Amino acid sequence: MSSTPDPRRRLAAAFLLEAAAWLLPAAVFLWIYTNRLGATSAAVLPHLKVVVALATTTVLLRGALHALGGRKAAAFGGALVTATVLSGLWLYYVTAVVGFSAWGYLVSWGLISTYVAQAPYMMEVLGPTTVYAAGALVLGVFLVLLAVIQALYRRGDWLPRASGRLNPLVIATGAVAACLLLALFGWRYNEFPPTPEGEPLALSFWPDSFARKFQSNLRPQGRQLIDKERAARAAYGNVQRRLGANVILIVSDGLRARNMHVYGYGRPTTPFLSQMVETGSAVRVPRIHSVCSESACGLLAIASSRYIHQFVDQPLTLPEVLRMHGYEAHMVLGGDHTNFYGLREMYGAVDSYFDGTMSRRGYANDDANVVAALKRLKTHSTQGNFIQIHLMSSHLLGRRMAPSRFGEEQNYFAMVHGKFEPSEQERQRYVNFYDGGVLQADQTIRELLDVLRSKGLMDDALVVATADHGEFVGERGLFSHAKGVFGEVLDIPLILMTSGKAAPLRIDERRLASQVDIAPTVLSQLGMPIPATWSGMPLQSRATPVERQVYFKQNAEFGLIERNQDGRTWKYWIDAVSGEEFAFDLDSDLLETRNRAAEIDPADRKRFRMTLLPLEVNVRESLSLR
Ligand SMILES: [Zn+2]
Repeated sequence: MSSTPDPRRRLAAAFLLEAAAWLLPAAVFLWIYTNRLGATSAAVLPHLKVVVALATTTVLLRGALHALGGRKAAAFGGALVTATVLSGLWLYYVTAVVGFSAWGYLVSWGLISTYVAQAPYMMEVLGPTTVYAAGALVLGVFLVLLAVIQALYRRGDWLPRASGRLNPLVIATGAVAACLLLALFGWRYNEFPPTPEGEPLALSFWPDSFARKFQSNLRPQGRQLIDKERAARAAYGNVQRRLGANVILIVSDGLRARNMHVYGYGRPTTPFLSQMVETGSAVRVPRIHSVCSESACGLLAIASSRYIHQFVDQPLTLPEVLRMHGYEAHMVLGGDHTNFYGLREMYGAVDSYFDGTMSRRGYANDDANVVAALKRLKTHSTQGNFIQIHLMSSHLLGRRMAPSRFGEEQNYFAMVHGKFEPSEQERQRYVNFYDGGVLQADQTIRELLDVLRSKGLMDDALVVATADHGEFVGERGLFSHAKGVFGEVLDIPLILMTSGKAAPLRIDERRLASQVDIAPTVLSQLGMPIPATWSGMPLQSRATPVERQVYFKQNAEFGLIERNQDGRTWKYWIDAVSGEEFAFDLDSDLLETRNRAAEIDPADRKRFRMTLLPLEVNVRESLSLR
């Protein structure tokens, strides 16, 4: 026997179920967002307001459908509206979490639209199965949601029943008031986006403020740093101008030194660069480390010669300094620097700009477009040009022009999240894939230099080939980058060559080097003074002592590499979340296999901590600044 359920309780149950469909996923997302992705609790309330606004909008639309159509049509139309907005919101949550853990940034709308437009090329890179499977999953979830909601609305929708009890005048007044409130909310949201609080949708809509405020590697905005930068810029305006050799800066995305033949790797992955170094046409900096393991901070460190704890808005950059000397600056960049890295603004005023998003009919991560763009590039003179080039060949999303020469291969994009224990055979396929990319980067560099030569730009040139960060290819169960601070992701290459009239280049090989040294090395080679706020030092200099500390940070891990008076090299870092310490003796253990944090000399440990603590405090303090 079944008792007739209390209609009031059914009504309340239906209402609560719908409210839960909106609020529970939001609550789960906000928990991850604040506890795992580093957002503060300030983001919670503004985001809940957005969710309530979205839910209210769908309820108003459903109400309109009920007022206009029959019960069945209203149930289907209402279900369509609710399922569309809800599944869109859920998809956003998934994309945001996956994106954040993959590259440390919140996904931006610009990035989403760029990659949706690039779907055919993504299919080629990731394989059609993955793209179709993802599409089928999204469509499946939507259809199931639509069916469930429609069934629920047909069985007993709370909206017409609740409104049936009310006076039509009250309903009309309520609907108009709700519309006005929503309009006001929308206007305010657009005029004063809650980006300072870190509301996720606002950060996705306005990624520039996001890039400034809220990355996995936060940029301090300390007043002092801003004032110092202003003073340095003003002072540099007074230095004597000089025009000299062309500067060609080539950054290969995710290119790690240890898989390059020119750095001692067994496989012939870098025939061109190896030959250049062997014949003495180029020099190789033996050990150089990036400041983090992801693109934006690496590129920022190269351009502005500073560590993460010194990052500032609008830093004085290498292209800006060279332009002060009368240089032209040209950016020829593979990949998406406009939406993805959020760097286009940071690069500042340039004379020409190309990035992957501008190759409308091609894939953004195809280096053939970069070569083509360089061929099209027009410079006013064959001297005094700064050309920065960014290559995606060694990145897992980069387009591969041919199968790997190193045997059966497989892209590891499916392994970007989490830890894995692939079989040795599987791991070899991933390494073959990566090595194929390294070889393609080497071949592309040779091709680019040929293009420059044909334009007369190599008659007097300094060429710098480096990387933004390294890559995990299965070591420690990890793949890709934007995670960890082990050597796999921090040890990058740096190859320098001069050609034509340019003075030959000599470096001090005993020196421990960092990405921040690249820009000062370039200026020093051109005989130009180095801005006061730059942290790096020219690698040519033999006058400075060998002792040195360089710094790095990725997510919660913060540390240094130190070469001491005796020439010994230690790498030490702290995980600020777990409190765990790591220390590796890089002289005897270059691959960082044995953590010696428990056995290091207490005096060393104390020194490391005393050095790192103020840097960490600097980063934290700046978070409270607006
Ligand atoms: Zn990168």
